Amino acid sequence: MRILIITLLSLAACSPGPYSNTNRDYKKQSKELSKLYLEYPVSDSAGLKYPADWVGTTNFSVRRPNFVVIHHTAQNSCEQTLKTFTLKRTEVSSHYVICKDGTVHHMLNDLLRGHHAGVSKWGNATDLNSSSVGIEMDNNGFEPFTEEQINSLVEVLGRLKRAYNIPTANFIGHADVAVGRKVDPNRYFPWKKLADNGFGYWYDTTNVSVPADFNAVQALRVIGYDTRKLEASINSFKIHFVQNDTTKVISEADKKILFELVKKYQ
Ligand SMILES: [Zn+2]
Repeated sequence: MRILIITLLSLAACSPGPYSNTNRDYKKQSKELSKLYLEYPVSDSAGLKYPADWVGTTNFSVRRPNFVVIHHTAQNSCEQTLKTFTLKRTEVSSHYVICKDGTVHHMLNDLLRGHHAGVSKWGNATDLNSSSVGIEMDNNGFEPFTEEQINSLVEVLGRLKRAYNIPTANFIGHADVAVGRKVDPNRYFPWKKLADNGFGYWYDTTNVSVPADFNAVQALRVIGYDTRKLEASINSFKIHFVQNDTTKVISEADKKILFELVKKYQ
């Protein structure tokens, strides 16, 4: 009888929510990873060929994220996304999921590597998963984002920017860093509003005359786009900066935008 009571009490203490099993798995995995930090001497890329030569420095800290990559989930609800990110076979994750009602689900320590960006390139940075925090916005891909959602996002971005000193230019979209492969966040995403709050850049004016020798492709590259697939990079540029234009060519109006934008990214 006594054992039964104790069992009942301990069951009540750790209320088994729908994610108690996957939370346990998270704990186990992070514990496993922490062993890497404790290794001494270290058997990383340098190997343990000459362990006697190992001299541990006394000055170090943990690497910090330097980019934020924003996504839309392309799913039908937050619940669906939480499920997707807690199933091993999907192999995908992000640090944050922001629901339509503004609820923020933190799913992964900012200091750990999420699996959200995939093959990616922005400027000279590759493997954005290694250097970024991933934020997923609950959105089916074809609808506007809610005000509550954007307000929560701005709050999260503010905390990330302050905590890790992330440069203004480094708040970007998945489509920006995976041209030809991804189109998120969709064309409803309020990038200008974000830029007004200090996350990413926006152009100040389009009332400019662009010099005849202005190189628009080079401007795209300076901003960060991977122009090796030019059409795809123009498409990503438009999803972000010229949202009502679905063509994949650089127009005279786009040149004005690029001419203004590039000054900020240079
Ligand atoms: Zn994405």
